[in-house]
Parts: sequence; C-alpha cells; structure tokens
Amino acid sequence: MEGCGPSDCRFDSCRGHMFLSTPIEQIPRVGPQYQKKLKKLGIKNVGDIIFHFPHRYEDFSNLIPISKAELGGPFCFQGEVLDIKNIRTFRRRLVLTQMTIDDKTGKLKVMWFNQPYLVNTFKKGTFVCLAGKITGKGKSIYLSNPAYEKIESPTKNLVGEKIGNSDLTHTGRLIPVYPETEGLSSKWLRFIVKPLLAKLKEQIPDSLPEKLRQKFDFLPLSKAIWQIHFPASLKLAEKAKKRFAFEELFELSLFVLRERMKLAKERAAPIPLNLAAVQEFTKGLPFKLTDAQKKAAWQLLKDLEKPSPMNRLLEGDVGSGKTVVAAIAALDVVRAGYQVAFLAPTEILAKQHYKTIRELLNPPPLLKEGEEKNQQNRKWWGVNIGLITGKENYYQNEKITRGELLEKLKEIDVLLGTHALIQDWVKFEKLALVVVDEQHRFGVEQRAKLCRQKDFIPHLLSMTATPIPRTLSLTLYGDLDLSVIDEMPKGRKKIITKIIQPKDKKATYEFIREQVKEGRQVFVICPRIEPAKTSAEDLGGQAAFLDQRNFSWLDVKAVKQEYKKLSEEIFPDLKIGMLHGKMKSQEKEDIMKNFKAGKIDILVSTSVVEVGVDIPNASVMLIEGSEKFGLAQLHQFRGRVGRSEHRSYCFLFTDAPGTIWNRRLRALISCENGFELAEKDLQIRGPGDFTGQRQWGIPDLTMASLTDFVLVSKTRNEAKEVLAKDPELKKYPLLKKRLAELREKIHLE
Ligand code: ADP
Ligand code: MG
Repeated sequence: MEGCGPSDCRFDSCRGHMFLSTPIEQIPRVGPQYQKKLKKLGIKNVGDIIFHFPHRYEDFSNLIPISKAELGGPFCFQGEVLDIKNIRTFRRRLVLTQMTIDDKTGKLKVMWFNQPYLVNTFKKGTFVCLAGKITGKGKSIYLSNPAYEKIESPTKNLVGEKIGNSDLTHTGRLIPVYPETEGLSSKWLRFIVKPLLAKLKEQIPDSLPEKLRQKFDFLPLSKAIWQIHFPASLKLAEKAKKRFAFEELFELSLFVLRERMKLAKERAAPIPLNLAAVQEFTKGLPFKLTDAQKKAAWQLLKDLEKPSPMNRLLEGDVGSGKTVVAAIAALDVVRAGYQVAFLAPTEILAKQHYKTIRELLNPPPLLKEGEEKNQQNRKWWGVNIGLITGKENYYQNEKITRGELLEKLKEIDVLLGTHALIQDWVKFEKLALVVVDEQHRFGVEQRAKLCRQKDFIPHLLSMTATPIPRTLSLTLYGDLDLSVIDEMPKGRKKIITKIIQPKDKKATYEFIREQVKEGRQVFVICPRIEPAKTSAEDLGGQAAFLDQRNFSWLDVKAVKQEYKKLSEEIFPDLKIGMLHGKMKSQEKEDIMKNFKAGKIDILVSTSVVEVGVDIPNASVMLIEGSEKFGLAQLHQFRGRVGRSEHRSYCFLFTDAPGTIWNRRLRALISCENGFELAEKDLQIRGPGDFTGQRQWGIPDLTMASLTDFVLVSKTRNEAKEVLAKDPELKKYPLLKKRLAELREKIHLE
C-alpha cells in the first residue's frame, strides 16, 4: 500500500476513473487494513464513502501573515520550512518536533508532540500550510500541534496570494471532521474522499423528486455532496446538510409507509370479539384495570377483528401492567379457536410470563383454603399453555422434552418461549397472534419467521417499556399502530431516587440494612460480571456505545467482586445472592426462585434483571457505576422496585461526579415518567444509542435529525402526498431503487 503521509496528500496524484459502485479495494491508497476498517462501518464502495458525511467542521480558513500571529486561534499560516528537528525530552519521554517557517513577514515556531516522522515529511525548503492554535508566553509563542499539508511551489509573495482554498484539504478552509471510528481518522478520510469527489466519472443520480427540491430550495445533489464534505462556507454546509437530512427522513418515511400499505393487503384471521368472555375475565382479576389498560385492550380487540394483520405496539412504562392486556388479547384469540405465540427476550422472563399467563388464563381450579379470596370467582378457562426455551420445555406445568412438546403443539393454545420459539421446528397450524415482549426490534422479523401458514399471517402485538420519542414513532416505527398505557395502577408510590457519592455509601448501606430488617429485598446492579483486565475488554452490546465515552473499563464495578464485598464485609449477616448472564440457566432460575421466595435479601446482578422481572417485595434498587448506563436502562432498573405498597428507593452510586453522566442521572431524579425521560435521553445523547439502533444501518445524519419533530412531520407529509398520487412510485424509479437499498440496510434483525 502506498503511504498516506502528507506528501501524497494531493488529489491530482491519484488517477483512474471512479464510479459509485467501484469497490473500496480498487480505490488507490486504501490498503487491506483500511478496507477492513471501512467494511466494519458498512462502507463497501465509493458511493458508501461519499455518503459518509462529516458531523462537524473545523474552521481553519483564517489565513494570516506571521507578523500578525497572536495567542489563540485557530489561525492558518503558509510559509517555507527553514528548519525542522526532533528534540527528545527525557523526563517525560516525549518527542518534540520543532519547525520554523518563514512567510517573508516573519518567522514562526511550530511544535508537534510525538510525531517524529514529520522530519522526513517536511524538508528544509518545502512550502507548507499549517493550521492550529498559537500558545506560549510573551515573545516565545508557537503554533501548537497544527494540522498540516504541503503546498505547491510558492508564489512571489506567499502572503496575500493564498493558495486557492479548493486545493487545500486539511488546512486553509473549513475542514470536515468525521465521526471518530477506531483507526479511521478524519484526516485519512479527507485524504481519500476529496480525490474521489474530484474523479467521480458519473453524475450521481438524484432520487429526490425535483418538485421537492424546488419547493424547499435544496442544493442539487452533486453540489450538495461537495459542500457537505468541503464547504465553501458554513452556510453552504448547513444548506447541504438540510437537503440530506430531509432526503433521508423522506426516504425513511416512504419506506415505512409503504411497508404499512403492503401489510394492509395481507390477510389475517379475523377474531370475532367475545365480549362476554373478556368481561368475565376482567371481573375475575385480583385488581381493577386502569382506564389506560382498558383503552389499550379495546384497541387490540378491535384490531384483531379485522381481516388484515394487526401491527400494534403496546407502550407502557415499567409496571404499568402490559402483561394482563396481552392476556386479554390472547384469551380472545384462543376462544376463537386459534393459537398464540408469546415471545420473551430472556429465559427468566419467558418463565415469569409462563407463570403469569398460567395464573391469569388458567388459574388452578381447586384453591386450597385460605388462598386469596379474590381468586375464587376466577374462571377456569381451560387454556392449554406451553413453554419452550433453549433448554427446557413445559406443558401445563409439567416438564417435558422438546419432542413431546412439538408433538403436542396442535393442542397448545398459548406457547410462550424465548428465541427457541421462532426456530423452524415449531410449526403452528392456527397461529393468529404473536406477542413479542421487550424486544427492541419490535417483532416484525419474528412474526415473519413464525409465518409458515399459507392462508393467513398472524397479528402482531409488540410490547415495550422503552418509550419511543414522538419523532421515532413517526418514522422508524411509523408502520406500527401505537397503544399507550400512560397511567400506573393505583396506589403506587413515587420511587425516591438519589445520587450517592462515595462519602455517603456507608450511610446508604445502613439504610439498606434497615430495609432488610423490615422484610424488604434489595437489588444491586453492576455494569459487568468480572473485573476488567484491559480497558478495552468487551462487554457485549454495551461496550459499543460506552467506549465512545472514553472511560476506562478498569474501574467499572463487577458483580463477582461486589458480591464478595457485600457478603463478606458489608452484610455478612444477610443473605446475598448473585446473578449474571454467564451462569447456567438452572442456576439463574434457582437464584430467581429463591429471591422471589424471600430466601435472598440482596441480589447482586448484571443487567440481566433489566427488563420485566417482577419482585414486588423488593424496595431498593442500588446501581453501581450508574453513570455507565443509558437513561432508558436506568429507568428500567428503577422500574424493578416500587411494585407494591412499600415505599421504594433507587440509589445511583457514582464515582465520577461532575461529568456529563450526571446530566443523565439528574434527569432520572427529576423525572419519573418514562416518556419524558426518553425525550430527554434523545436530547442528551442523540438517538443513535437509543435502544441500540447504532447497528441498524440507519445513517448518522438521519439519526441526528430524528430529534427534529418539525422536520420529521414535514417529511412524513411529503411522503404521504407522493404515495397518495403514486403508490407504486412508478414515476420515481430512482427513489424506488433507493428504498430497495434502504430495506437491505435496515436489517430488522
Ligand atoms: P409491565 O407493564 O412492566 O410488563 P406487568 O404486566 O409486569 O408490568 O405488571 C406489573 C405488576 O402490576 C404485576 O404484578 C401486575 O399483576 C400488576 N398489575 C397490572 N395491572 C394492574 C392494575 N390495574 N392494578 C394493580 N396491579 C396491576
Ligand atoms: Mg413486562
């Protein structure tokens, strides 16, 4: 591979024709190492690189003569190299590269740290353009760590006759800064992108309808592309960005609306509403449904009546009681003679749901004396309920083999399970409803996998406690109808949330001891299982977004350590349990069973308890390293307590005060409503991290503009208008092609 040092940094050194579809392997100076890195970003060809946009610009356009140099900046200077040398500082083991340049108005000292190779790049007598900040004191000021590039032979007078800034790539202009990705510097990307733009041998087809381009006065595509990478002014950069933001959201809206249209044409089993059964069922519940639950249930039942497939998202804060609403829908479907599949993200949750659904739909017919009175008028619905997980299978509370379960599949009315449920071997014959709980990807794909019947496809009910900000529900999830449970069951008390600094830990532990004495139970959450050995050690899905925040994993609290500390030092007198994802499922289950039964006082766990786990007696949620978690996740943790009449507490332990993290923690304190929190979260960190959509392949720009409600509504309206006139997009073949590509990119799995 040819080097990518600054000496090569001239785009005209680069020959050969380029097309959007040219694979990165054929781009000069993109060697195997870089190919790998690009591919990691999903960049496969020239087009992908060109549509990889900067997220901000560095203004290096302020070119001044050396005689006018002063503290501050950034400034840009052009001059001739008088001398350059490396100096080693032994004490701090730094290499300083010191250069002096001359532009005929004066001389300027330049300093780089730890870039000794620069002495080979800039020989005495070369001409350079440098941009950066001036630091130092009094007369001995210097240009510190500037960006640099070589320039052509000088004109008579360097100053005043600037090199045209379109010839400059890293200095002397607005410089694009790309989202940082390991091993791909902005400098390198500029070095690659610019010649590509110059050498692109085709008009990039503009798929944005011309009418819209005119209506909103957007830049034409080819101009917009140049201006977003190498803008002539910030105003033009902004203008280009507007166009792309609009375009991407517009395409996303079209995509989602068309999915919706397609689904509406499919056939589903219409479920006649059995009002008597539903009423009898609700009457038998040990509590009264909230109005919000009733409304959501009604919307579901009405959807189920239709001959086209339901695609509904049931959104309700943790503890708002979504399960019982799903149970009502399930009952209705089963009474009509069809089957229900109920998918949970983890084994713990699948089992919990299995138990709950059994209790709801199939309470034991014979109650022993002294059992809750309000169970007495509950009906024996005769629903056959099964559970399938990777390891175990149950049918009517009996453990059976998978083979036995599959044989019985015909007679099972409701089958709950983990991912095992959507494997090929599970073949339903009358599956009319799929319920998907707490799956961020909202079940569309899962339903598709379960769909093996020929004549109809099942209705889909997706449930989530992760609230979706309004803008996202219009775009990313715009093909789902939304039911919201925005009301908590009566009698729930506000959970007291506090940030606990290291000095207050002791008092908090004492408080926890008191709680346990009163009979309550406690969760302790840690960000990892084992202490980290290296700072870059991976932590599954978490690491991706956490690592961007540049903290060391070394000091992140680990479950095993914490368990040892709590059980040996702090609460040797209490019963401490440990739970994490690497334990065997039997172990996990035993731990959860014991915790539920009150045999464990304090459960130290990773985020496996994040969603859904229901332990009403728990009143304290202690989160170690709370600043390491996302807001949605913290809210989920907090939702594990406050599920009974006991006053509950959420303690946010943090060793890193005063950072941006605390913005999130403060938001958590000031706000108990998950929906408001989601909006705040979106503002604080942008939607990219939201429910882990980084992996979705949605362009960053779209992600950023998803916070813009006005823009989102505008693009959605335009998309609707286009589709109303031309549902098949016959007049817009380019757009249609783009949508097909988008489908590939938005891998819903
Ligand atoms: P989530 O919406 O977080 O999934 P669940 O469905 O697990 O919530 O319900 C949380 C708890 O609240 C359960 O113990 C459930 O029995 C109870 N519950 C549900 N609805 C009501 C209600 N209307 N009144 C009182 N308790 C309820
Ligand atoms: Mg739940």
